[in-house]
Amino acid sequence: MAICENRVVIITGAGRGLGRAHALAFAAEGASVVVNDLGVAQDGSDPSSAPAQQVVDEIVAAGGKAVVSNHDVADWESAGEMIQLAVDTFGGLDVVVNNAGIVRDRMFVNSEQSEWEAVLRVHVLGHAAPARHAASYWRTKSKAGEPVSGRIINTSSGAGLMGSIAQAAYSAAKGAIASMTLVQAAELGRIGVTANAIAPAARTRMTEDAFKDMMAEVDEGAFDAMDPANVSPLVVWLGSEDSGDVTGRVFEVEGGIIGIAEGFNHGPRFDKGARWDPAEVGAVVRDLLAEAVEPTPVYGAS
Ligand code: NAD
Repeated sequence: MAICENRVVIITGAGRGLGRAHALAFAAEGASVVVNDLGVAQDGSDPSSAPAQQVVDEIVAAGGKAVVSNHDVADWESAGEMIQLAVDTFGGLDVVVNNAGIVRDRMFVNSEQSEWEAVLRVHVLGHAAPARHAASYWRTKSKAGEPVSGRIINTSSGAGLMGSIAQAAYSAAKGAIASMTLVQAAELGRIGVTANAIAPAARTRMTEDAFKDMMAEVDEGAFDAMDPANVSPLVVWLGSEDSGDVTGRVFEVEGGIIGIAEGFNHGPRFDKGARWDPAEVGAVVRDLLAEAVEPTPVYGAS
């Protein structure tokens, strides 16, 4: 049985790559899909309506239901219009998959203000704005006594969880998305909304040059682990009604792997019960570090 029958799903950045795979997978599970994409180049320039339209055409040709949205998800008002489009077209909204993203990779010492602003805008605001408008819609429904099984699925990254060389702005933005997810989950549970995030890995234009060997296509007949479609089943399940008891989690997902990122936790600590003298601190920090779990190395660090 299809697990998203009658659900209305918005997927941002769904004209290509992972978002496209999610859109096709949701439609195949019976969902009505708003295919959002600004159709920009990897750095966020040169918008085009073509990629979103192609995905809608593909879904409709396969007998599914889909509509194009060319809204800029990082524009507060435009994100609100996208939520309204879902409600006007399909009569409601159940799931927001925040997936749109750009990269402006640079070593930290060379990075520019404009790159920081562009990357933080698209990822952080571009995740917050659609979810904020969706949350308003769900709160109104909940207050009216109507059932809500809202789902926010955010897209973080290994870069956001562990850091990634030449991606300081991107890593900062993706880390912000992981912590945004925790707060959304804690605040919105009472109105019937879950929030989870994924840290995916797949072959898309964002990765095929930077991680060429890892992303290479495989021989025919073998499992193509880096196909973006491998990430979508988890996303579709998180968007289904069945996942209602799962919230505030970050999932690492690639190929056949589904993992739970354990994130920041309180580690070893020592309370002196009084203010420290700066000269005493070094010894106690080294003792604590000896007990603490070693951090996972930053991606790309040798
Ligand atoms: P992609 O470049 O193929 O797709 C991103 C899409 O987002 C593009 O089609 C682009 O037009 C759209 N977009 C950009 N800015 C937008 C805006 N303001 N409004 C609407 N649409 C916009 O890249 P992808 O690899 O499929 O990435 C999808 C998401 O997954 C991104 O958030 C990315 O950071 C994340 N991610 C990808 C990988 C990977 O291995 N590919 C790993 C970790 C995280």
